[in-house]
Amino acid sequence: MSCLFCKIIKQEIPATIVYEDDSVIAFEDLNPQAPVHVLVIPRKHISTSLDITDDDNQLIGKMYQAASKIAKDRKVADSGFRLVMNCNKDAGQTVFHIHLHMLGGRPMNWPPG
Ligand code: AMP
Ligand code: ZN
Repeated sequence: MSCLFCKIIKQEIPATIVYEDDSVIAFEDLNPQAPVHVLVIPRKHISTSLDITDDDNQLIGKMYQAASKIAKDRKVADSGFRLVMNCNKDAGQTVFHIHLHMLGGRPMNWPPG
């Protein structure tokens, strides 16, 4: 398995981890697009949102709960933040291990680019 994010989970490549528990880990995005840009990923390898099954429903909830906890810790909960999961080419997915982008600390446009 040559998945980049699985390697981060196994600590084979470094990352600035900001949260972890039995199910998920979160770390700073290498190329931040906002003052706060954290990636929340499941420890379980799931390639895209299309591959989420009923077995993963609790896990996906835990990803959102972790993102909310980090947003509070980083003081962007009240001002607001964006959670994004890109899927496949047109959305710009580049790493095929699902991840929630948690972006905050500046106003964001809608619709997204
Ligand atoms: P996506 O384009 O939605 O698949 O998002 C992939 C994200 O992973 C991008 O925002 C990258 O900046 C980020 N990224 C890629 N490699 C690393 C890494 N080694 N550590 C942290 N973030 C990374
Ligand atoms: Zn993986």
